[in-house]
Amino acid sequence: MSAEVKEMIPFFDLKLQYRQIEGEIRAAMDEVFQQTAFVDGPFVARFEEEFAEYIGTSQAVAVNSGTSALILAMHALGVGPGDEVIVPANTFIATAFAVSLVGGKPVFVDCRRDTWNIDAQAIAARITDKTVGVIGVHLYGAPFDVAAVQQICEAHNLWLVEDCAQSHGAEYKEEKVGRFGVLSCFSFYPGKNLGAYGQGGAVLTDNVGLAERMKRLRNYGSPQRYYFDEVGHNLRMDGLQAAILSVKLRHLDAWNERKIEIANRYRAAITKGKGKWQCHPGFSHSVYHLFVIMHPNRDGLMTHLNDQGIFPGIHYPVPCHLQKAYEHLGYKAGDCPNAELLSSQCLSLPMYPELTDAQVERVIEAVNGFEG
Ligand SMILES: *Cc1c(COP(=O)(O)O)cnc(C)c1O
Repeated sequence: MSAEVKEMIPFFDLKLQYRQIEGEIRAAMDEVFQQTAFVDGPFVARFEEEFAEYIGTSQAVAVNSGTSALILAMHALGVGPGDEVIVPANTFIATAFAVSLVGGKPVFVDCRRDTWNIDAQAIAARITDKTVGVIGVHLYGAPFDVAAVQQICEAHNLWLVEDCAQSHGAEYKEEKVGRFGVLSCFSFYPGKNLGAYGQGGAVLTDNVGLAERMKRLRNYGSPQRYYFDEVGHNLRMDGLQAAILSVKLRHLDAWNERKIEIANRYRAAITKGKGKWQCHPGFSHSVYHLFVIMHPNRDGLMTHLNDQGIFPGIHYPVPCHLQKAYEHLGYKAGDCPNAELLSSQCLSLPMYPELTDAQVERVIEAVNGFEG
């Protein structure tokens, strides 16, 4: 390799993290193998208890993905044909699919131009007599304006579900997100702030009745082996994933702190005009699942960074309301202008705790060096 070839900086790298915790992970996995507790069982129960305690709810129901968590939440709340659920246009598609998969209809609303999170005014404008609830997403790790959304929900007798798939440990007014909705849904996809080594998810709540119903629904609607009270799913979490998540939960705060440090450096050092980023009001303590910048020549900036060995991501290139899957709902370009602009200009810079200071400086220099 020649001296000029620069080391590649990927958008994300899970191998570095594994090397730090390899011993702990292998020991935890071995315990699961020794007990052959592969599906649900004691390791899942332990992780549920630990994660509920970490967030600050009394109940946690672990499942096999974040998407499953959202589907289970919609099912438990009784969403079905004829029901409308308001969701942000700029989220990962699973937020909306969960509504559709139980027979409901997602109603997409725009984000705010400053925080890129759901716009409470836009929610109010889309409420009809069919609306049953709102799913708010703490996008990129940054809490949405919970009080503003709660106020609208209360005024119209709607439930609020939090999609916390990108916000493990984020705080709204010094309280962890995941405590504000009647249910809150988490994903443990490997790339999330708390990620399994496979897939996982959880629904958290303080509502014991809903938690018990979800525990039955994730297990074929079964209160007792081979007795089935209602039609249910198989959404149980693997013991291995739970044991791995218990190990990784112990490191989550330190990893989040490092991500915040990197984000602060990006925000301080990227020259104004070289990009815009998400605005964080005083109530918002983000854990920076992603560090997204907007640039009018996003594709040019992408090529420029790729040429220097830096590989950002795009989250997400097409907003939900313009996806082919929702063609039948009849949305058109211009319906959610802020979300559409974000989709066309967003770029996610490398963001993971193991990035070195030197790598962060290289990303900053490369962004600042873009003329276009
Ligand atoms: C990742 C994600 C999901 C889906 O979680 P999976 O574990 O991948 O099924 C849902 N909503 C949001 C906002 C996400 O980022």
